[in-house]
Amino acid sequence: MRFLSNTRIATRLSLAFGAVLATMGFMILFSLGQIENTTGSSQRLATASLNMVTLARDAQAAAQAGAVHLHELFILPAQAQRIPVYPLIDAQARKREAAIAALLASEDAAYYRSQLDSVVHYRDRYVEAFDATVEAVELNADQARAPMIERTMPALENMLAALDALVTAQSERADQKLLGINTLKAQSRNAILSLGGVAVLLACLSALTITRSIARPLAQTEKLARDIAAGELCSTLPPAGKDEVGGLIRALDDMRHGIAARETRIADLAYKDGLTGLPNRTLFIDRLQQALEVARRNAHPLSLLVLDIDRFKTVNDVLGHPVGDRLLMQIAQRLQSVGLSDSDLLARISGDEFRLLLPTQDVDQAVQVARRLIGALHQPIELDGHAIDVSASVGISSFPAHGESADVLMSRADLAMYVAKQGGDGFVCFDSMLERSTDQGLSLLSDLRRAVERDELTLHFQPKIKLPGRTCESVEVLVRWQHPTRGMIPPDQFIPFAEETGFIRNITCWVLERACSVAAAWALDGRSLGINVNVSTRDLVSMDLPSVVAGVLARQELNPALLCLEITESAIMGDPALALASLSRLNEMGVRLSIDDFGTGYSSLAYLKKLPVQELKIDRSFVMNLDRDSGDAMIVRSTIELAHNFGLKVVAEGVENEHICQTLIRLGCDEAQGYHFGRPMPADEFEVWYRQSATFADAVQRVARL
Ligand code: C2E
Ligand code: MG
Ligand code: MG
Repeated sequence: MRFLSNTRIATRLSLAFGAVLATMGFMILFSLGQIENTTGSSQRLATASLNMVTLARDAQAAAQAGAVHLHELFILPAQAQRIPVYPLIDAQARKREAAIAALLASEDAAYYRSQLDSVVHYRDRYVEAFDATVEAVELNADQARAPMIERTMPALENMLAALDALVTAQSERADQKLLGINTLKAQSRNAILSLGGVAVLLACLSALTITRSIARPLAQTEKLARDIAAGELCSTLPPAGKDEVGGLIRALDDMRHGIAARETRIADLAYKDGLTGLPNRTLFIDRLQQALEVARRNAHPLSLLVLDIDRFKTVNDVLGHPVGDRLLMQIAQRLQSVGLSDSDLLARISGDEFRLLLPTQDVDQAVQVARRLIGALHQPIELDGHAIDVSASVGISSFPAHGESADVLMSRADLAMYVAKQGGDGFVCFDSMLERSTDQGLSLLSDLRRAVERDELTLHFQPKIKLPGRTCESVEVLVRWQHPTRGMIPPDQFIPFAEETGFIRNITCWVLERACSVAAAWALDGRSLGINVNVSTRDLVSMDLPSVVAGVLARQELNPALLCLEITESAIMGDPALALASLSRLNEMGVRLSIDDFGTGYSSLAYLKKLPVQELKIDRSFVMNLDRDSGDAMIVRSTIELAHNFGLKVVAEGVENEHICQTLIRLGCDEAQGYHFGRPMPADEFEVWYRQSATFADAVQRVARL
């Protein structure tokens, strides 16, 4: 089989069919030869038998005819009458002798030697007796009668008998030869049948062997392909020969390795943090769920630690993003070096946030680990000659003491970390008291979770007014929390906490979906109003914002040009490379981008102009004092001029009176937003406001045309 699988299938088939054809050919030639032989032998036998019998019968006839003539001599009394008989006697004697001579000269004479000798012997006796009788007849016919009867006739009978014996012997031999020919025929038939059998057997064997040598590896190859399709990439490789099937097996093996390599790479990309090489958020949550199931089954504890680096944003802003990256790598190394066990899982979730899963440890053990983690950062980290002091805040929650589900445990660890950060306490273990004490109870993460689930969040819409025409072409969407007991809660009271704990992702997704749905409804109503949605720092680094936005736009069937995302300077400066990549993708999708609260961060316009943004919103702190503070007026004026030079549209926030509005018009500001035009309003109030403003703008335009 090994040899077969090393021979090409085409060669194998050629060899097998060649062997079968050769056997068939040989069989045909052999059969023809045998037929030829049998026919030749039969013919020769027939001819030889016929010749000898004829000659023997000729000799007998001639001898008998001679004897008849001899009798005539006795009958004829006068010599003159007998004289014509003698030539007749001589003629018969010649005929007889010629036949006997021919018999003696025949091919098979040697074989019939004894019979021929007997014929010759009795012929001689007969001839002697015959001649003596002839002489006696001429002397005295009557006296010759006795020797004739006593000698010549018996001699004739003896000779005839000898000739009969020759014929009998010849017949026997012919029978023997016939028997031989029949035996030969039987042998030939058997040989042909055997050869035919061999040929058929050979054909069957070849067919079977070749079929097996092809079918079996093909079946194994099919199984291999199915295994690969099912994601089973380690199944045993069937033996691969050098034939076509072997080539196919090797190609499948190559394909399998390629898939395995790509899968590993994809898994790395999907489950590993590119910067530190640590597991990422997806892998962490996955492992946490698994570990929780095991802990539940085996009734053992499990602990979760959330670690956030203090003042990391400042380090990033001051020393730059590349240094920030290297710092995070060093921090990851320090955290890994605290003697974690193989089953513990340290992950980088986003930015400066790490999480640690201790699958079998309780709160006390988790506290020990938290101390070691904080201790690992005590020594300043040296980077480019700078000794950077790093500290971290750690929040701890444990199963089953602090919750049963992954979500609850994570939000409680988040809350504990938040409290640790507020108090500068290093680490804090979750306690139900925390939920009541933090930020008048408003920062309760579980409350916030419920708020999204129970639709307690609402959107308010604040018009953005185009200057100098004062038409409203877009609105800013601002979130509010309609708390069941505490009433309306402004974003300043829960957005920072949501950002701190990572929950902002859920809020952003919720706001985007609702805002786009409203804008799509307006568009259907023939009102092409743009919407500005605020996006937080965390949204840019901890989720794939472009994909989220693309999904929302597709679901709500909204023109991307109607959506504008507001991003603060600090969000961009936190991780400029990542921000630039996300902003570029959003820009390519046709979504508009705006820099919010401009002037409050460290960034320069020169840097911001490199970003694919279209709008710049001057922070309200500069606008509100525009008519009183000449410094602010300078800032606003130069910002407008510079932004225009870079091709950006400028929006002034916090316009509270007509005087500021006039100043902004004078400075060439493109849009204004503020209480002077309209406060953030719920959807129905905004409807009324919009209709009135549209009527007003219409009237103003009609007046302008008069
Ligand atoms: P922002 O994006 O700069 O929003 C403008 C804020 O200025 C709003 O406060 C608005 O009510 C207020 N404002 C508008 N006109 C005037 C004015 O004439 N005078 C004064 N004094 N204030 C004015 P709000 O709604 O309290 O929002 C505060 C911040 O909360 C927002 O600042 C934004 O950063 C954040 N925020 C609001 N909604 C969301 C949201 O859906 N997602 C995210 N990530 N952040 C949001
Ligand atoms: Mg804004
Ligand atoms: Mg703003």
